[in-house]
Amino acid sequence: MSNYQPTTVPDGPTDGSVTPATVESVTQSLADAQISESSASAIKPADPSQAYEQLVTPWDVQGSISADGKQLAIDYDKLVDQFGTRRVDTTLLERLIPRCFLREFDKILDRYEQGKPFFLYTGRGPSSDSMHIGHMIPFLFTKWLQDVFDVPLVVQLTDDEKFLFKHELKAEQTQQFSRSNAKDIIAMGFDVNKTFIFSDFEYVGGPFYRNVVKISRQISYNQSKATFGFNDSDNIGKIHFCAVQAAPSFSNSFPHIFGEVSNIPCLIPCAIDQDPYFRLTRDVAQKLKYPKPSLIHSRFFPALQGPQTKMSASDANSSIFMTDTPNQIKNKINKHGFSGGRETEEEHRKYGGDTEVDVAYQYLSFFLDDDEELAKIGEDYRAGHLLTGQLKARCIQMLQEFVRVFQERRAKVTDEDVNMFMDASRKIDPNFGKRSQTS
Ligand code: ATP
Ligand code: MG
Repeated sequence: MSNYQPTTVPDGPTDGSVTPATVESVTQSLADAQISESSASAIKPADPSQAYEQLVTPWDVQGSISADGKQLAIDYDKLVDQFGTRRVDTTLLERLIPRCFLREFDKILDRYEQGKPFFLYTGRGPSSDSMHIGHMIPFLFTKWLQDVFDVPLVVQLTDDEKFLFKHELKAEQTQQFSRSNAKDIIAMGFDVNKTFIFSDFEYVGGPFYRNVVKISRQISYNQSKATFGFNDSDNIGKIHFCAVQAAPSFSNSFPHIFGEVSNIPCLIPCAIDQDPYFRLTRDVAQKLKYPKPSLIHSRFFPALQGPQTKMSASDANSSIFMTDTPNQIKNKINKHGFSGGRETEEEHRKYGGDTEVDVAYQYLSFFLDDDEELAKIGEDYRAGHLLTGQLKARCIQMLQEFVRVFQERRAKVTDEDVNMFMDASRKIDPNFGKRSQTS
């Protein structure tokens, strides 16, 4: 993480909604770089009782354990090599992209320049009633992309997946979470005329299901097992689920938007834990003669416990939910927020704190608008002038404000809004550049 150089986002959404304020400054040229197609599967511990490599799958994110038993922060350089993605070029989109890694993003930009349509696809696995702050990262970024490109967006709510993977949840419950999560997503300000949100339980059928089945015929049991690390006692739904998550990548899965047209490519903004799904999807696309999806992966918003894992809805202790009260936010940061400060104030003043592992600092680096303030906070903390309590207080204030603004918007989202966004019978214009005046 030493290569973070946060800079200001020159253009945010135009409607005053919240936006992640920092971008990662990296220099590798997209034009020069080749994407290496990696067949690497999830990185798994050889022996969990020993030192082990980091583990990044769609269900589990853990930094590596060193020989002396310390759990380390996620090593993104390693992940970029292993997954075969690449870092974002700074000249690209004028350094607007927050903390991301790319897969064939240049293809999408070429299409945009040529006036050819494409669409955005992202999703959420409704494992909880409310989304958490970590989810805001890919969704804010998706919102920004929709604002900039004015393209259709499909949002898949994988209530089927959460039912298959989380035995404590009932199918009716995950479907209900889909609707409450849809409200969270709508509150982020997506354009109703360009956005289709769907629950797998409600929508899957027809041309979408035909694609699911076409996809599943291209993926062997062994391939699914190797990509996701399943074993022989995993239920067969899990093994098949990747075909369901792949299907929205293809335009003819959405007849009310694209009709029968199958050659409109998509761009998928998500966090990097989803990459195993889309590596498989890209393989299958080729076989089905569909365009391969392009991807923009964001970094993980760290868990309260530290940067060795991500904030996850399934681990309530790791998360600040968008429904939390100001007091809950304060208590969570103060009690559970992993600190890069020293044991005693005296030591801290003498040796300074570690911003690389300090959760309050990391959170500020995602959301603080003022780069100068962030740089100063970092310098002061590392120099030992700024104490952990003071750093946390600034972080609490920022998160409370962010969540307050979100909650105000969320309170205005009605059931009718949800019905409208999830209505599969309405027409959505597949083209960009024709922003509706009614939005
Ligand atoms: P669960 O723990 O139940 O899997 P989750 O918190 O991982 O839930 P998902 O619904 O699986 O959330 O993910 C929705 C989207 O948010 C995906 O694009 C995922 O990559 C992204 N995402 C999830 N957690 C984080 C995080 N901490 N930081 C950034 N993005 C995240
Ligand atoms: Mg997840």
